[in-house]
Amino acid sequence: MSAFLFALGNCGDAPEVAAAVRAVRAGGAAAALAWHGDAARLRDAVAAGLPTPDHERSPSASASPPQFAADAAAFAATLLATPWRAVVTIGHDAFAQAIGAAAASAGLAVVRIGAGVRSHVAGCRRDAARRRADHAATLWLCDGEAQRQELVREGADPAQAVVTGNLLADAASTVAASDEAVIAWEHAESFSSPDAARQRLERLAAALAPRRVTVLATPWLARTLADARLPAGVALAPSNAAAALRAALGAAVLVTDSVGFQRHAQARGIRCVVDACHGPLADAVATGCVHVASDATGGLVAAVRRALAAPAPVAAPQGAASRFAAQLTAVTIPMAPTATPVVALPSDGDASGRTLGAEEALLAADAIRRGTLNSTRGRYVGLFEQRFAQWLGRKHAIACASGSAAMHCAIAALRLQPGDEVVTTPITDMGALTPILYEGGVPVFADVDPDTLNITPATVAAQLTPRTRAIVVTHLFGRPADVDGLAALARERGLPLIEDAAQAFGARWRGRRCGTFGALAAFSLQQGKHITTGEGGIVATDDDELARRVFLYVNKAWGYGDKKPDHYFPALNYRMTELQGAVAVAQLPKLDDVVAARRAVCARLAAELADVPGLALPGDPSDGAHSWWKFAFRVDADVVPGGALALGQRMQQAGVACVPRYVQKPAFECELFTDWSKSPVTWLPLQHNPRRTGPMPPFVRADYPGAVRGLEQVIVLPINEHYRERHVQHVAATIRAAVGAMQHA
Ligand SMILES: *Cc1c(COP(=O)(O)O)cnc(C)c1O
Repeated sequence: MSAFLFALGNCGDAPEVAAAVRAVRAGGAAAALAWHGDAARLRDAVAAGLPTPDHERSPSASASPPQFAADAAAFAATLLATPWRAVVTIGHDAFAQAIGAAAASAGLAVVRIGAGVRSHVAGCRRDAARRRADHAATLWLCDGEAQRQELVREGADPAQAVVTGNLLADAASTVAASDEAVIAWEHAESFSSPDAARQRLERLAAALAPRRVTVLATPWLARTLADARLPAGVALAPSNAAAALRAALGAAVLVTDSVGFQRHAQARGIRCVVDACHGPLADAVATGCVHVASDATGGLVAAVRRALAAPAPVAAPQGAASRFAAQLTAVTIPMAPTATPVVALPSDGDASGRTLGAEEALLAADAIRRGTLNSTRGRYVGLFEQRFAQWLGRKHAIACASGSAAMHCAIAALRLQPGDEVVTTPITDMGALTPILYEGGVPVFADVDPDTLNITPATVAAQLTPRTRAIVVTHLFGRPADVDGLAALARERGLPLIEDAAQAFGARWRGRRCGTFGALAAFSLQQGKHITTGEGGIVATDDDELARRVFLYVNKAWGYGDKKPDHYFPALNYRMTELQGAVAVAQLPKLDDVVAARRAVCARLAAELADVPGLALPGDPSDGAHSWWKFAFRVDADVVPGGALALGQRMQQAGVACVPRYVQKPAFECELFTDWSKSPVTWLPLQHNPRRTGPMPPFVRADYPGAVRGLEQVIVLPINEHYRERHVQHVAATIRAAVGAMQHA
């Protein structure tokens, strides 16, 4: 059963709370309440026929806002041990915010009711608090489409912002009205002093006599009016939530700037007047049943008279409760907590930038429950292999311990001889290069296109020799390389092509997925890749013989399932565990959405940066689809003094993580290549290859102008599927400001 905890502010909207609790209960779920402030108001609402909560707690009955944060942190720890699956916040004060943040840090979904309301005088403190509360949520239930759009404009995930209607208005229809009050007043803004309040009420009461005026006293208003003698015909409503609501719902006209009361009124067909004593107050008008009074008190009296003369608006019950219940009962999964509004960028190093959730937890728990944690007897690794092959469109997929292991298996399947050459790129992960040496091969580096940092058929062709045994292509950053051209070249020379698609899950070239062009393709499931199992890898191929060799290479070359199994050749244990396999099975169905979300983020980012001078922005190749592992852009140092390095440093100082120059230098300048005679792994292949020219490194920078220029110019910006509009805006604004400052320095 799903369970929900309602974190409330000052319990001002007890009927709304009650409606929410009722809706949740109707959906068969459990609910509990946590609040701070005036518990009596909640209790008397309960006494007025609202449902009794299962459980009441008031962790901070008298705490001040800074204490809430500490309190909430302790509360978050206790949440982890409870059955609560989601925390629903109502209201927007410091308490609701603190509890929301605590829940998010405990990995619970945070649902915000009545989100996106931007009421009251624009720019006043209340709005900022609302925004903070709204942005701390993972699911937004909005009263109306305008509010939803407002949230989405501010960066809320459109899929997670839902219009459910208004619970307050819903609640109004369940509360019995009184019939004595004629005019109810809940309009704190109108009273600048006790005298002013008295004068306004006096004039209104005189003009409307013998009708009675009832004032719904908010705490502030009650204090103000306590010092003023109330004029004849004016009464103060009892200051408890249920009585105030009953008085309001019996009114003929409601003078109010409270959005909540306007909604009650809307549900009951009661006329409203908003007193625009502080100038235009369009924001305070939440519903269609409102008359706006002009500035002077005379205007207010006239507006109230007009409202009384006008036909009563048609009651508009909302039916929000059932929509709300449907939304809420669907929230059984703790979603990844989203960042706070202080533009902390989601990171793929933790939950903020990863699409990990209850599905992964469930399957990993199942693997543990089964007790088989290795793949030779388990079910999840096999299932992942089967489904990955299906997703990619290849006959075989063999999972292993890492992307490096995947590359090693793919290379090993080629059965290189010492000194055989494998043409590859100098800009890649070392996990793609070291395996060549381990298998006795010599990595031979082809230059890259400085614009894409990918190798091309021409740069590869320039490096082919009679000793070449294979070509490895990395689709760097997720941008597909010209795999058609490379596959054609490989075919022409009778060479196998290996695709290193570790960064290119879901990338396409002429409609076909990257990873389906080479004889073999390797993927990585390391923490920072599109989908992850922490560490992990997988190799794909259509060739039965290659698939068998990869399988054996993962399994110490032990012929599992053979009639007379043996260890056929030297190989290590490169197996993926069932724990990883379980997570991988849960990750895979999310992959296409992850890629689509990243595409959208990068399209927005490119659009935002389009007019920043000196930047070359990444995009799809003319006939393919980038899968946006990273957003790698280039900086022209002639236009932006200091270039990529200086811009990257400024971005980092401004809190936007990035890697100027990616791997910093072409791979052949790393010690394992320059000091090759140091280790048998690097020594052996070169001993059997004429490229060895004494102690000199076999490759030199001067021959790689594309790689040198590309690395000099590139800044790698990590993005992920959890970037929202506000993150895009923040990153773009940071880059724009830094470039501007550098140009004028
Ligand atoms: C990540 C990566 C690898 C290595 O994968 P690991 O899982 O980290 O061993 C290989 N090649 C490329 C292009 C990569 O990005």
